[in-house]
Amino acid sequence: MAKLDALIDELVTANRILAREGVVDSFGHVSARHPDNPRRYLLSRSRAPDCIENDDIMEFALDGTPIDARGRGPYLERYIHGALYEARSDVMSVVHNHSESVIPYGVTGKAIKPIFHMGASIGHEVPIWDQHTKFGDTDLLVRTMAQGHDLAKKLGKGATCLMRGHGCVVVGPYLRRTVYTAIYLELNAKLQMQAEAMSKKVRFLTKGEVSKVTETTSPANVNRAWENWCRAVDRPYRD
Ligand SMILES: [Zn+2]
Repeated sequence: MAKLDALIDELVTANRILAREGVVDSFGHVSARHPDNPRRYLLSRSRAPDCIENDDIMEFALDGTPIDARGRGPYLERYIHGALYEARSDVMSVVHNHSESVIPYGVTGKAIKPIFHMGASIGHEVPIWDQHTKFGDTDLLVRTMAQGHDLAKKLGKGATCLMRGHGCVVVGPYLRRTVYTAIYLELNAKLQMQAEAMSKKVRFLTKGEVSKVTETTSPANVNRAWENWCRAVDRPYRD
C-alpha cells in the first residue's frame, strides 16, 4: 500500500478508536501531517468520527484551504490543526476533542497532572488556553488562524493543552502516539478526580518520573495498545 493510502487508512482507524474510547463523540477530530509534503495535512470532512470512511479524508494547506474538496465540507475548527503544524515541525499528528473528564479542569483552573504510568504521556504540565483572554466573547470554536496561533503559543513545546469551556488539543510525533496520549489524557483526568475525592494528599508522578516514562515509551509499547484497539473496532492492524 502506498504511503499516503496507508496513512489515510490509519487515520480512519484512529477516528474509530477515539470514538470507541470516548475521546470524541459526534464532535472532535484527528489529523496527520501529509507524509510527502510538510506544508499539508490530512483531516476528515465534517463528519462524526465513528462514521468516517477513507473517501472522507481531505487534504489541506496549513492555512486551512482544502486542496481538492470535491464537494466535501470541512470542519470549522480545522485551523487548530494547521496552526499547530505550522508552529511545531516535530508535530506529525493532532487530536482535538471535548471528552467529558477534561472539561472540569479547564474551567476550574485545577491542573491536570500525571497520576499513573500511562498518564505520563500528557506531560509534566498541562497548560490551559482561555480564548476569551485575547478574543473576548466568541462561540468558543477556533474559527481563524489567529485563534489557532494563540492556542499554539499556549501549548508551547508540550504534548497537551486544555481549552477553557471547550476541550483540549493533543499533539505527537506520530499518529498512534497522539491517539495514545489523547486516550490517556481522558483516563488520567477521570482517575485524578477519583483520587482527589478520596484524599487531599494525592502523590502525582514527579517531573523526573514523567521524563523517564516518556523517554522509555517506545513505538512497540504504543503498538501493543494499537493492536488491541484495532481489534476492538474491527479494523486491520499493521505493524
Ligand atoms: Zn472543538
